[in-house]
Order: sequence, then C-alpha cells, then structure tokens
Amino acid sequence: MLTDTHCHLDLPAGKAGMIRDIKIELLRAKEAGVTTIINVGTSIDASRKSIEIAEGTDLVNVYATCGIHAQEGPKDIKKYGPNFIDELKKVAQSSKKVVGIGECGMDYFLEKTDQGPATSEDQKKAQRELFEAQIKLAKELDLPLIVHCRNAWDDTFALLFPFFGRSTKKGVFHSWTGNWEQAKKALDLGFYISFSGIVTFKNAGQISQVAKMVPEDRILVETDSPFLSPVPLRGKTNEPKNVRITAQFLADLRNLPFDRISDITGDNAKKLFGI
Ligand SMILES: [Zn+2]
Repeated sequence: MLTDTHCHLDLPAGKAGMIRDIKIELLRAKEAGVTTIINVGTSIDASRKSIEIAEGTDLVNVYATCGIHAQEGPKDIKKYGPNFIDELKKVAQSSKKVVGIGECGMDYFLEKTDQGPATSEDQKKAQRELFEAQIKLAKELDLPLIVHCRNAWDDTFALLFPFFGRSTKKGVFHSWTGNWEQAKKALDLGFYISFSGIVTFKNAGQISQVAKMVPEDRILVETDSPFLSPVPLRGKTNEPKNVRITAQFLADLRNLPFDRISDITGDNAKKLFGI
C-alpha cells in the first residue's frame, strides 16, 4: 500500500534539465512496492501533463492534481491572462484522474522572480491572491487542497481558516518544514501533514520531532521527486521508488513496523484524495 502522495514525474530532472524515463521510474517504483502515485501540477501546462501521465499508465495507480505553484503564477497569468483560473478549472474537470487542487500556497523564501524579491509586499499580495483563487476552486470542485508553505505560516493559516475551519473536505501540507506549534494549527484545521526526504536530513531535528508526534490518522509520505532525495541519496535526482526510504525512516522514528506505516499512510491518502 506504499503511496507517494506528491511527485512531479513531468518535470525535468537535475541541473541539466534531463528528461526522465517515466516508464522506467514507474517500473522501479512498482518493484519497490509503491502501489499509488499522485503526480502534482505546478502550472496549467504541468497540470495537463500530469493528467496525461496518469491516464497513460497502468503499471502503478497514478493520479493527478491541478494547480499553480507560487513561483509559476506570474508566468501563467502572463500566458493565460486574467481568466487563468478558468483555464485551470477546465483542465481540472477534464479527467477523472484529477484528485486534488494544487500545489499552491505561499513561498516567501523564493529569492527572485520576474517582479523582484519575493518578500516585497507586492509579491506577497500577488501570491496571496493566487492562493485564494485556488482555495476557492478547490471548494467549488469539492477537491482536497495541496498546500506548499515556506516561511509564510501566519499568512497561510490566516487564509485557510475561514475557508476550511468547518469544511469536511480538507487538504494536505506537503513536504512539511514547520515546528510543532505550526503543526498543531494544521491539525486543528483538519489537514494532513506529509513528509518528504527532508525529514531524513541530519539538520531536520524540528521536522522529525513533528513527524514523531503527528497523529496516525493525519500522516502522509511523499518524495516531491525529482527534488529532495532522502539520505543516503541526498543531492541525487529523486524518484517515486525512494518513498520507501522515507517511509522506513518514519517507521523507525515512530517505532512501528514498515508495513504498518505503509498501510497507515496509504489509507490516509485514500481517504484524503477519495481514491
Ligand atoms: Zn512539489
């Protein structure tokens, strides 16, 4: 039941922008016991590609999500105009393989974008508007939300609480990097918390503390491949099969058998994404 709840098979890997052999990666994932993969959209075009990948294989159960990452917002708005969200909606409604909206959210760590430093007030405002538009789309389509949050906790919770405080359809904070105080807020909101290879890094003490304490019915595991390879593959191109390494790390951390963490995270993914 091993499930990689967040990866980007559509994105090029490594600095050279190498195109990956998706079929080989899926075969290796299958051999490693991965039964389900969620390929996450980062732009309108990437969301379309995610669907193509999900529909184009039966090696592993692959699903897609549709969203616009903070970093891609300015490019998509330029390309698709002020009604870009209608285009995203069209893509999201085009396939039964779509199980979520995102990834979206705020990243105040981005160093520079077309508009200058990401931490400028204008840039923050643009990120908030892009995020809010996708929160509304998730509510409208009744799909869970995949949230990316980096150095933007207060603004993220301020936006999410009014929309999700009482809702039954929730979402996930992917590749968790926050502390326990922030995790408690995410849990209060009813959201899931997903751990990527970052939790295995030696300097990730705060993150592994959270990974130890998240209740069993809210924990997920992911690769975020091609990024964030877990130790001992840190620095190499990541792929879905490596979700096994992070799941094993979580099992050791929580003193549980591997199969148990695999089943818990797989069941949680099924519940959240309705798959
Ligand atoms: Zn991602």
